[in-house]
Amino acid sequence: MTKHTADTNRRRFIKLTVTGLAAAPLANAMFSESAEAADMVSESEPTAVALKYKMDATKAPERKDKSAFCNNCSLYTGKPGDANGPCTVFGGKLVSSKGWCASWVKKA
Ligand code: SF4
Repeated sequence: MTKHTADTNRRRFIKLTVTGLAAAPLANAMFSESAEAADMVSESEPTAVALKYKMDATKAPERKDKSAFCNNCSLYTGKPGDANGPCTVFGGKLVSSKGWCASWVKKA
């Protein structure tokens, strides 16, 4: 191996390592977003349809209490201020904090 080849290989290795390190946080963010998306309750899944779940509570015609949202439901276990949080009715899958469904029970 000539000195020129060794230098080229070293430069290539450093370039790939730096690129990999720079891309890691982006890849991590992408995977965590897709994992969260996969854990989100979809309005079209059977339980959600049966309970008339809407990600946007204002779009639920059956909702009579205009102050009712997932984030003030006793079955919502998300943190205050978070956009989404787990719901026990949906086995811990994430619902929108601004959502609503027919199982809403006012948080005590
Ligand atoms: S049970 Fe409560 S937290 Fe769960 S989807 Fe219905 S309204 Fe939202």
